[in-house]
Amino acid sequence: MSEQVRFPKDAFLILVGPSGSGKTTFAHKHFRRTEVLSSDFCRALVSDDAGNQAVSGAAFELLYFIAAKRMRYRRRVVVDTTALRRSARNTLIKLAREYGYRPVAILFNVPLEECLRRQRYRRRAVPEEVVRRQYEQFQFALAEVYEEDFEGIYLYEDGELYTERPLPERPAPLSEEETENEKPQPAAGGP
Ligand code: GDP
Ligand code: MG
Repeated sequence: MSEQVRFPKDAFLILVGPSGSGKTTFAHKHFRRTEVLSSDFCRALVSDDAGNQAVSGAAFELLYFIAAKRMRYRRRVVVDTTALRRSARNTLIKLAREYGYRPVAILFNVPLEECLRRQRYRRRAVPEEVVRRQYEQFQFALAEVYEEDFEGIYLYEDGELYTERPLPERPAPLSEEETENEKPQPAAGGP
């Protein structure tokens, strides 16, 4: 499985899926802790409570801030939020583009009953009506992502990653130093 999950570092990975669809599990299985930016963790950083919805505004500001800093240093970014709203995805897409990263969506397509069942084993269970609403939003997201500015679109189903829109191969972006060296040198002497 891990063999399939290889993305270039300039891919800005946006995980999309309702609570219980396995986003965090997937992210931690395939990426370094520091590569994964989670809204739950940012909620915890500002309020000591990963489930505190009242601090979502501050948590997302923090998440965007860290994402921008990481991209500034050309580090990988994996965004672990539900990303169910088009506006939320769009904010992330624009941020990625600002830094020359390529937005990639990974959609976690898991049956509603399974998302609900998995809540039972969680420390912080998301209420059933919330998961149902998220699942409905996800049905729209499944169709809408194709009209959005994603360079790659992947579906995660039954533990497998399926390519819907392959991310084109491209060498890793140049580091700032390299970019500096490639600038045209001023011509020596005059005409
Ligand atoms: P998230 O809300 O989308 O981040 O989902 P999580 O990754 O937190 O997963 C929710 C629960 O489902 C956790 O208890 C996981 O251990 C479990 N889980 C995640 N992925 C799988 C999977 O592929 N199979 C099964 N059986 N359980 C999973
Ligand atoms: Mg999670």
